[in-house]
Amino acid sequence: MIQNKYKILLVEDEDNIRNLVATMLDTAGYQTILADSCTAAKTLYVSYLPDLIILDLGLPDLDGLHLLDFVRKDSLTPIIVLSARADEADKVGALDRGANDYITKPFGSGELLARVRAVLRNNRFSAQEGRLPGGRFLLKDLEIDYDGRRVLLKNQEIKLTQTEYNIMALLSENCGKMMTYAAIIKAIWGGSAQEGSIKKLQVNMANIRKKLGDKPGEINYIVNELGVGYRLNG
Ligand code: CA
Repeated sequence: MIQNKYKILLVEDEDNIRNLVATMLDTAGYQTILADSCTAAKTLYVSYLPDLIILDLGLPDLDGLHLLDFVRKDSLTPIIVLSARADEADKVGALDRGANDYITKPFGSGELLARVRAVLRNNRFSAQEGRLPGGRFLLKDLEIDYDGRRVLLKNQEIKLTQTEYNIMALLSENCGKMMTYAAIIKAIWGGSAQEGSIKKLQVNMANIRKKLGDKPGEINYIVNELGVGYRLNG
């Protein structure tokens, strides 16, 4: 097992879940820092500056969203929200306030570790690429030339409309992050997510996915979480 040095702050008040997740992370070679309340998590975040935070929303002292806001005031430290809540509105709310991804309880070790790896990798990746002028974005066979406003797949240019290109550029700049309908709509068209604008987004996304050759049941570039949003997979 390769030991890595990533520090993960795990914020969860239920002892059995916290111990279980800590064991999963320890076994995978991560260094875990444990907190059972929002207040404890704030102190530990400031002292350790972890590489990733796994955050339960239902905490005994304050809502987990409080920590999310606290961290996002001055940091892009990736945050995966751990939620027992089945309600899509809670997930969307956490994503729109800056969470990178979420995972719904109960979950297995494989699923959790896959999310952790993806978020850590994409965070490093986007830090290198970002919005550099003349920058290029590369993901498997997909390439985006930001200056030329072109998208290429296996070195072949894909003909996108202006709107489709803008969506691809936005998703690539947030690679690996689950982008909510509202976040995409606001960035592309301005305004809020209403039935009409969500339909318009879905039509554009369907066209993009067709052009990228994404097929259901295969490993695709774009993942759609129904009722929540879209993620470009890193
Ligand atoms: Ca809880």
